Amino acid sequence: MIKDLFHKNRPVYSLEVFPPKKDADVSVIYDALDQFKTLHPNFISVTYGAGGNTVENSFAIASYIQNQCKIEALTHLTCAAIPDKLFLTNFLTNLYRNGIRNLLPLRGDPPVWMSEEQFEARYYKHASDLVKDVKESFDFSLGGACYPEVHQEASSLEEDVANLKIKVDQGVDFLITQLFYDNEKFYRFLDKIREVGIGIPVMPGLMPITSAKQVKNIVGMSGTEIPGSLLKSIEKYKDSPEDLKKAGLEYTKRQMEELLAHGAQGIHLYCMNKVETARAVYE
Ligand code: FAD
Repeated sequence: MIKDLFHKNRPVYSLEVFPPKKDADVSVIYDALDQFKTLHPNFISVTYGAGGNTVENSFAIASYIQNQCKIEALTHLTCAAIPDKLFLTNFLTNLYRNGIRNLLPLRGDPPVWMSEEQFEARYYKHASDLVKDVKESFDFSLGGACYPEVHQEASSLEEDVANLKIKVDQGVDFLITQLFYDNEKFYRFLDKIREVGIGIPVMPGLMPITSAKQVKNIVGMSGTEIPGSLLKSIEKYKDSPEDLKKAGLEYTKRQMEELLAHGAQGIHLYCMNKVETARAVYE
């Protein structure tokens, strides 16, 4: 189980992959996983389409990681995709019977096809409600999402951290952060959660910027701020994709080294299924 990895006094390294879209070639992700395996990450997490449209692929990929690659698989699951408790019980039973013991319960964001009313009427309101029900019936190692730059719907860091405490108290074993580029923000966040009594391990989430068009997506989707020094090198190399990629990877490597020197308990790499990115950072 992933929670046991943190007791070994060594940083925990993980990668995140996402299932291909329904009509895409699924062999690409399996080929990538065979390559990721050679990097020896401690676990690989598999994202879940907000509305559940990747459910079969998510499950098959997690099972491949756990049983073929022999690496701990962390399956994400969002409230928005769960119509009732039976769905949850069946989902967890399938994971359990396939040897998967790690879950990242999430609220998720409204899928594009769901109206606001449908989203508001979801069976589980917050990730913490999901954590509670999973914990009651199954022995899973549970992760939780957290936000060093504050979740976009929370009015303050204090409010967000108070809500995070509810989730952790329901039975979360470790946290993974939203991606960030300014380590100082992570350290401030860590101080804040320790102050309110959240003592579980926190994995900083890093995502190298390897192309100029990524920047708009990152800011738009996560609200993450990109420091001036990084923006400057993106601007400098905007017409030279290879140099830009190199600069983005270098930035992440420096960020990672500094976090580890500061005592970070691990690094979660949002590698977007890219073997080249993961290899460059790991090596
Ligand atoms: P929650 O913990 O429920 O928090 C959501 C908001 O509600 C926050 O503002 C919080 O302060 C507030 N809140 C929480 N509990 C309470 C309460 N009891 N009362 C009042 N307010 C409360 N999305 C996907 O669709 N698929 C994925 O696979 C996926 N993987 C992710 C992995 C990581 C590591 C991260 C950081 C995010 C991921 N997301 C994913 C995005 C995530 O679903 C969204 O950020 C979503 O908006 C919040 O999910 P959460 O689990 O953090 O929600």
